[in-house]
Amino acid sequence: MRKPKRKPNGKITLVEAQRRRLDALDRWFRFVNDELAITPENFRDKLLFPSAWGLEQKGIQGFTEPIEPAEVEEIKVEIANGLKELADKRQWVIPSADLGSFNIVISQLGTSYEGSDRAHALLAVSGLLRGDQWRSARCSWCGKPFLKKKRGEYCSLRCSQRVRTKRIRDPRWKKDEAQAKKLGLTVNELRTEHGEIKTTRSERRRHPFPGSRRPLGSQIEPRMARREADP
Ligand SMILES: [Zn+2]
Repeated sequence: MRKPKRKPNGKITLVEAQRRRLDALDRWFRFVNDELAITPENFRDKLLFPSAWGLEQKGIQGFTEPIEPAEVEEIKVEIANGLKELADKRQWVIPSADLGSFNIVISQLGTSYEGSDRAHALLAVSGLLRGDQWRSARCSWCGKPFLKKKRGEYCSLRCSQRVRTKRIRDPRWKKDEAQAKKLGLTVNELRTEHGEIKTTRSERRRHPFPGSRRPLGSQIEPRMARREADP
């Protein structure tokens, strides 16, 4: 991590504080896209501690046991679904039951939490998103969640270049692109869902985006179904 720029009174500059926040938030996006090698052993070091740092907390407390691998997966699914809801301009609701029992600790070091890894993770992401909710976006080409830096619509240069090529070579692209945008879909999703043009097999093979919309979508349903089944 870069050496923080400090003001004479020991406080960090606003620019530095925002840089830390966005770095921490970006880690959660990379986590849900499987771009950050997260294991139960490094979950706290790679995600929770940088988040506390981004939220200007001096420490996090409350862990007595190692995190379970299944817990890491569940947290990933919950955060992936939440970021996607937000990107699609809907609400991300975190039920208090998902946080378990936790304490809010307010001291001269700032406000922090004591609780489970899940509580830390969810409270951290919600804190990091405060004022930066608009940054949760889905790539207009591949559908992957990503952290918007400026006005970009694509997760990577690769995706934006693909769209540029499509605009030139595919005569129906512009029309479909405008409609997809209105519906909050990618063009490929629009075409598949409306059954107009199926993507060719070679196109699908060239399109193996890890953590893209399809696996996320398939993970949403069991969870929602479970919640509806609750009494
Ligand atoms: Zn993309």
